[in-house]
Amino acid sequence: MNAHDSEKVIGTLEHEGYLRVADEADAGLILYNTCSIRDKAEQKVFHRLNEYKKLQGEGKRFAVLGCVAQQEGERIFERAPYVSLVSGSASYRNLPEMLVRLEAGEQRITGLDDRQTEQTFDTEFTARTNPHHGYITIVEGCDKFCAYCVVPYTRGKERSRASASVLAEARRMVDAGFTEIQLLGQNVNSYQDPSSRMSFAELLAAVGSIPGIRRVRFTTSHPRDFTRDIVEVIDAVPTLCDHVHLPVQSGSTRILAAMNREYTREWYLERISWIKAARREISMTSDIIVGFPGETEAELEETATLLEEVKYDAVFCFKYSPRPNTPAIALADSIPDEEKSRRLQVLLDRQREIQRVSYARHLGKEMEVMVESHNHARGQVVGRSSQNKTVNFTVAQPILPAVGSYQMVRITQTFPNSIAGEALAG
Ligand code: SAH
Ligand code: SF4
Repeated sequence: MNAHDSEKVIGTLEHEGYLRVADEADAGLILYNTCSIRDKAEQKVFHRLNEYKKLQGEGKRFAVLGCVAQQEGERIFERAPYVSLVSGSASYRNLPEMLVRLEAGEQRITGLDDRQTEQTFDTEFTARTNPHHGYITIVEGCDKFCAYCVVPYTRGKERSRASASVLAEARRMVDAGFTEIQLLGQNVNSYQDPSSRMSFAELLAAVGSIPGIRRVRFTTSHPRDFTRDIVEVIDAVPTLCDHVHLPVQSGSTRILAAMNREYTREWYLERISWIKAARREISMTSDIIVGFPGETEAELEETATLLEEVKYDAVFCFKYSPRPNTPAIALADSIPDEEKSRRLQVLLDRQREIQRVSYARHLGKEMEVMVESHNHARGQVVGRSSQNKTVNFTVAQPILPAVGSYQMVRITQTFPNSIAGEALAG
């Protein structure tokens, strides 16, 4: 989401006449987009800002964008006095105007949202880095307030973009040659058109029906808003990728309640059973937090058994990191870092074994792969399946298929994190 925010900011500023340079030493203005989801990401920001100190020069200006800007606000000016502008993501639409003030000599400019804005940042001028696969943000902010999470405080309240604006952007992208579109939101599936009330499943069907589109993805779905019609629309519309990222966070109902996720293990597993009952095989992935305050060994084991029950195709595991302003900051961060690392490893080992066994189901199958890059050293092509798996494959002919093209591949080998095969002729 941050990478895409940067694409939108860059495109908007280029449209205003700013010129992007390859080397930060040549820049008159450096905008630094930041993340504060975990403490490590935030530490990196202040380390990097310190390095910028050395870059200071005649007329050079610095701006800090993103969640650390929103969270730390004017404190950034104290820690890094050479910074002239701080802006959270909910104020990006005002950046052109803030930069005019900056150029006029104003020293300390802030764009800090107070969770009030209803506006979304829609721009026609996104500078997308990949010409084949592109993102579209459809929901900004979050109202879920999970106990551990900074997002509701840094990205403002939840608001959906007008479906007409989303569809117009998707059509423009397809006209420009994009074949894969990924819809984004912290809770992408709580989408609802602000006037027509079009639902997320209806929007998915509409984007997936644009002539010329080949793949539509979406992240991240929240279990609370995961309705059956999402599975039905994936079944019905072939361009919708057969993959759902549905973070569970923990397999223990007690921990889920402490996290304020507002569902139980059983309730979550019911959504998983809908996905498993689909006519197409839909791949599932998840996020997990280990070491949430008070998590016991038995509760960790409940998460491990949930992994075994669901059989996700990938899991992203994080050590709990206390975040400022969040309700969980009031709880003692009772589990030492080494113990969090051990728990992380327990889950990663269990998950690796699940994937080692379950990826073998692809052996001998044929699947369509979108080419992402060429590995010349190994004479291989690297791509991605509709289920979002990395596929390495060989081709018989000397000319490798172009990046962005689609190729049918027969799977000959599987590993815990990727699959390999050979291109089919034709
Ligand atoms: N909106 C999405 C994900 C947002 S952040 C959702 O609700 O699923 C991405 C992931 O970071 C989360 O799913 C969670 O697993 C992790 N995360 C968020 N806050 C965290 C924290 N304080 N410590 C550790 N991991 C965290
Ligand atoms: Fe954070 Fe929860 Fe919102 Fe996801 S749903 S962004 S984890 S508060």
